[in-house]
Amino acid sequence: MDKDLVIIGGGPAGLAAAIAAKEAGINDLLILERDNKLGGILNQCIHNGFGLHTFKEELTGPEYAARFEDKALALEIPYKLETMVVDISAKGEDKLVTYMNRAEGLVVIRAKAVILCMGCRERSRGALNIPGYRPAGIYTAGTAQRYVNIEGRMPGKEVVILGSGDIGLIMARRMTFEGAKVKLVAELMPYSGGLKRNIAQCLNDFDIPLLLSHTVVDIKGKERVEAVVIAEVDEHSKPIPGTEQEVKCDTLLLSCGLIPENELSNALGVSINRVTGGPNVNESLETNIKGVFACGNVLHVHDLVDYVSEEATQAGKKAAEYLTGAEREHESENNSGCRSEKNTDNAVSIKATDGVRYIVPSVIRLNHMDDRQIVRFRVGAVYKKVAIQVLAGDKEIMNLKKQALAPGEMEQVILQKSVLSGIDDLKEITIRVKTD
Ligand SMILES: Cc1cc2nc3c(=O)[nH]c(=O)nc-3n(C[C@H](O)[C@H](O)[C@H](O)COP(=O)(O)OP(=O)(O)OC[C@H]3O[C@@H](n4cnc5c(N)ncnc54)[C@H](O)[C@@H]3O)c2cc1C
Repeated sequence: MDKDLVIIGGGPAGLAAAIAAKEAGINDLLILERDNKLGGILNQCIHNGFGLHTFKEELTGPEYAARFEDKALALEIPYKLETMVVDISAKGEDKLVTYMNRAEGLVVIRAKAVILCMGCRERSRGALNIPGYRPAGIYTAGTAQRYVNIEGRMPGKEVVILGSGDIGLIMARRMTFEGAKVKLVAELMPYSGGLKRNIAQCLNDFDIPLLLSHTVVDIKGKERVEAVVIAEVDEHSKPIPGTEQEVKCDTLLLSCGLIPENELSNALGVSINRVTGGPNVNESLETNIKGVFACGNVLHVHDLVDYVSEEATQAGKKAAEYLTGAEREHESENNSGCRSEKNTDNAVSIKATDGVRYIVPSVIRLNHMDDRQIVRFRVGAVYKKVAIQVLAGDKEIMNLKKQALAPGEMEQVILQKSVLSGIDDLKEITIRVKTD
């Protein structure tokens, strides 16, 4: 099968990217989704709080997803459900996308461009190295969310949650609504990994204690969880002897971080960022493999889905430009030939330093940049009354005062092409937290 554009994953990122590409004139496209419906993780997020930025109203996850699904259907964008992509490889300029489903078996598509929209998965017990038996009653928070919200089953009655990421916070409230007793949320770090609004609305409103700098050091129970032992940790995250306390419970939910799903990207040879776990991309959200773009949680873990949709729209638009040759024309106008090598004159690398953990994108090619470029990043600690400073070479081009910054919240700055183009021989932009 030949396709101009294949989109892997039909979550919010895949839908927004497909809509943008179709609106930009790409008709020969296809979304491949392994689940039995479009919408991605939003289908199980039945709480509200989605879409405040995009639609200026508070929607549930399924409502938010439905807005994009409806649009994709109206645009007659083709998609396949229960279809799992098992491999991507490159053959010359083409990408070979191999998928499997019950009706067709194994199929290979020769695609001119691909957008990676596979989202992310949760860190499981195996990745956390918690000692103890392996009894029933230990779930990732997202799995428990699927049980409660989609399958209609309760994972347990007395719950301890390890990790204060947003999914854990949301599940603390959800389990309480459904009649369970959530005893506490233990967080290894001295700050929460979730949004401030979720701590207020999901823990404080229900008097659920949040124990910062605490972790689970043992799990009791052989067949079923009977209790967990939690302990305080020192500044190196090591449990402090003597601080252990046993908490009776039948369920342990884990909300200890998300990992972008990049097994396919790795196999293709996409360069992966050590900090985000997602591909390194340029201003067009294009990876090091020509014609392969990435957006949404597969690129870096987002706090709000609105930003996923915004980013994916950009990826869809840029993939369309790539396909229609606008980008190639642009290159020849700039007389820069092969983009990845000779274009380096116009490539500006974006560096994270002094408290900034990572930045997406990591490179901006000035001759491909739109008039404004959104650059997203996260900080590595909690800060109060500081500034975000953007330096172009040695020159400060932005200084944004911030009352508070936290690792759980994504930050962004918008770079203007007019400003960057006016700086001679610009090679590097630095974004840092200015504390003095
Ligand atoms: C529990 C929870 C609560 C949240 N709460 C909020 C909130 O209150 N407000 C908010 O704004 N955001 C919230 N978010 C974040 C938001 O849901 C995500 O940012 C968004 O869903 C990411 O979109 P995505 O398309 O990148 O990934 P996903 O939604 O994960 O979609 C990825 C899709 O790719 C498919 N896929 C993966 N691999 C393959 C493959 N090999 N072949 C075929 N298909 C594949 C998956 O099945 C999935 O459908 C929450 C997220 C979670 C998990």
